[in-house]
Amino acid sequence: MEYIFCENCKTKYPIIDILDNANGSSPGESILFFECKKCKKQIILYLEKNRVSVINYLAESNWEILKAYVFQTFDIRVDPEYLHCWYNNKHYEVKKRN
Ligand SMILES: [Zn+2]
Repeated sequence: MEYIFCENCKTKYPIIDILDNANGSSPGESILFFECKKCKKQIILYLEKNRVSVINYLAESNWEILKAYVFQTFDIRVDPEYLHCWYNNKHYEVKKRN
């Protein structure tokens, strides 16, 4: 099992819990949103093949990476309405946030 940590309160989340409970995505930027259950701060993740990064979102298509996690079995595909993710060959789709 692989985890992501909230940068604010350090609560740890299995990546599959984040994929299952995301608060939407920005497919064009490969970004996923997730609210930390403990501190309620928004965790923003930038997704790439084999890598998931917690970011500080500054402006459209402009962010700094706070922490990068290498997940060998992670992959993504973007379509206009969904960010599609695969982790350990299981498919997750996160709808675009309006
Ligand atoms: Zn937190």
